[in-house]
Amino acid sequence: MSEIKMNELNIKEDERLNMLNHSCAHLLAQAVKHLYPQAKFWVGPVITDGFYYDIDLGDTVITEADLPAIEKEMKKCSKDNKRIVREEISKQQALEMFHDDPYKIDLINNMDENEVVISCYRQGDFVDLCRGPHVENTKQMKYFKLLKVSGAYWKGDANNKMLQRVYGVCFESQEDLDAYLQYLEEAKERDHRKIGRDMDIFMVSDLVGKGLPLWLPNGYTVWRILNNYITEKEIAHGYLHVHTPDLGSVELYKTSGHWDHYKDDMFSPMYNISENDENTMTVRQVKDRIDRERSDDVYVLRPMNCPHHMVIFGRRSHSYRELPIRIAEIANDFRFEAQGAVKGIERARSFTQNDSHIFCTPEQIESEFKGVLDLIMETYDDFGFKDFKCRLSLRDPADTTKYFPDDEMWNNAEASLRSVLDDLKLDYFEAVGEAAFYGPKLDVLVKPAVGNEVALSTIQLDFLLPRRFELTYVNENGEKVTPVVIHRAILGSLDRFVAFLLEETKGDLPLWLAPQQFTVIPVNPNIHYEYARDLVDKMMKKGYRVKLDDRNEKLGYRIREAQVKKVTMQIVIGDHEVADNTVTIRRHGQKESLTLSQEEFFAAVDREITDKELAK
Ligand SMILES: [Zn+2]
Ligand SMILES: [Zn+2]
Repeated sequence: MSEIKMNELNIKEDERLNMLNHSCAHLLAQAVKHLYPQAKFWVGPVITDGFYYDIDLGDTVITEADLPAIEKEMKKCSKDNKRIVREEISKQQALEMFHDDPYKIDLINNMDENEVVISCYRQGDFVDLCRGPHVENTKQMKYFKLLKVSGAYWKGDANNKMLQRVYGVCFESQEDLDAYLQYLEEAKERDHRKIGRDMDIFMVSDLVGKGLPLWLPNGYTVWRILNNYITEKEIAHGYLHVHTPDLGSVELYKTSGHWDHYKDDMFSPMYNISENDENTMTVRQVKDRIDRERSDDVYVLRPMNCPHHMVIFGRRSHSYRELPIRIAEIANDFRFEAQGAVKGIERARSFTQNDSHIFCTPEQIESEFKGVLDLIMETYDDFGFKDFKCRLSLRDPADTTKYFPDDEMWNNAEASLRSVLDDLKLDYFEAVGEAAFYGPKLDVLVKPAVGNEVALSTIQLDFLLPRRFELTYVNENGEKVTPVVIHRAILGSLDRFVAFLLEETKGDLPLWLAPQQFTVIPVNPNIHYEYARDLVDKMMKKGYRVKLDDRNEKLGYRIREAQVKKVTMQIVIGDHEVADNTVTIRRHGQKESLTLSQEEFFAAVDREITDKELAK
C-alpha cells in the first residue's frame, strides 16, 4: 500500500516530491526539444498536484493524443541516465548562451540585481536556466505521467502569446503513481459537474453568461428542500427571516466599507440613464464619479448581504431587552469571479447564501456563539458529516494595532469562544493572527471524500460594521451603545452545498433530498399499466417525487436509465405485484429487491423521509 494520503497530497510542500517533480519538468522539456526542435520554454514550476511546463511550439499545437509519444521520449531520456549537472555562469554568459531564446532573455533580464551568479542545469544534450535544486540523474524520474495540456498566456496576460502548458506528475514508486491515478479517476467520478449532468441538476450556457448556472427541475428540487430545511431549523432557533433586493446603491457599500475592500470582486456598477439625460457616462467615468461623490443613484449587484441587514436593524431604536435579534435570509449574491476560477455550482458568479446577522450585547456573545454551533451540529448530524474540525481565528496579541482597537472586547470575546468550544468538546485548533481586523472567527472545516477541506460553516464576530452604520440599542442604564454583530452561515452557499453533497454521495442523495425518489416500472405496460398508474397517483398525492416509466422499452433498459439518473428506488410491477397488491422495490446501487405490501411500503417510506434517514 502507498504511504501517501492522496487526499492530503501537496507535492509543492513535500521537499522530496517537489524536487523530483521539478526535475521531471526538465525531463519533459528535454523530450519535447527532441521531438519539436523549434520548442522554446518559459517556466516549469511545481504545483500542489505535480508540475507543468509552459512551452512555445511555434505554429504546432499539441493535444492529449500527443502526450504518449512525449512520455515515450521522456522514458528514453530517463533510461539514458544522464547526470544532472549544475553550472554557474555570469549574467553576461547567460545572455550569450540563451541569445536566441526570448523567454530566457526575459527571465535573465528580470532577475534580481543581487543575483550575480546564474545557475543552469545540464542533462545530456539539454540545458535549462534554473535555480534548482534537482535530483542527481535522469534515471530517478521513472514513475511519471503526463496528465493534460491546455493553453496559457505568457505571463498570464491575454494580450500575450498563448503558450502550451503540459501538466504531469512524478512519484518515487509505481505504487504511488498508480494510487494517485486511481485517486484522480475517483475525483473525476465524483465531480459534481459530471453527476450534475447525469442527474439533470443544473446547466451552464455561454449565452446566459459564464459562471451563471441555471438550476433545472431536479436541481431546483434539491435546492428548494434545503432552503425549506434550513429555514425551518432557523425558525426553531429564533431567527427572523427577511427578503431584501439583489442590488444596492454604491453608497450602501461605501458605508459598509465593502466598496473600498471588495469592489474588484464585484460586477461593475450600474448607472441608470434617463431618456433626457445629457450627462451619459462611460463605466470608467461612473467609477471616477463614484470615487468623488455620494453614490446613491449608482447600483451594484450585491456580493454579500450584511449592509442590507444592518439597515433593517437600524430602522428604529432597540432596547437591550429585545436583543439578541437574529436576522436571516436565503439571499442571492453576485461576485465577479475570474473565468478560470468558475466551477459549476461550486464556484459561480451568481449564488445563494444561507446568511444571517445576529445583533447582540457583548455579554450575549457566548450564548449566541453556542446557539450557532448547536445549529451547525444539528445540521451536520442530519447530513451525517462526521469528519470535520474547527479553526478558531484569533488576533495576534503581539501586534494589536492590526485589529479593531478594543482590548476588553477582544479578550472577552476570544475567551468566550474558547470556553464554548471546550464545553462542547469540539475538535478545534487556534489560528493566532488570522482574525479579521473587525473580530475573531470560527470556520468549520469539513473533510470531503476527495480534495481539500471545505470551510462549510462560519461564525464571524464583528465589532466594526455596526459602528459604521451607527447602530445602537439602549442598555440597562438608559445609554445608547453599539451592539455586536455576528455574521454566520450554516450551509454556506446553498449552491456550493449541493455540489458538496453530490460529490460526497456520488449523487446517491438520501431519500428526503433525492430529486427523483421513485420510478415505477410496469414489466409489461400493456398488462400492468393500470395497477402502476394507480400506485403512482397515490404516491403523488402524498407528495412523493415519482415517475411512471410505461414506455415500450425493454425492462432492463428502463432499469438502467433509472440507475444512471440515480433514482433512489425502482419499483417493478409484474403479475405477482398486481395479484397480491404489493410492490417490489430495489434501491439504487443494490442488488437485492424487496417485496412489500402497499401499506408496509408507504409506512416505511414516510418514516424514512420524516426521519431524514441517510442514504442506504
Ligand atoms: Zn530546474
Ligand atoms: Zn455578513
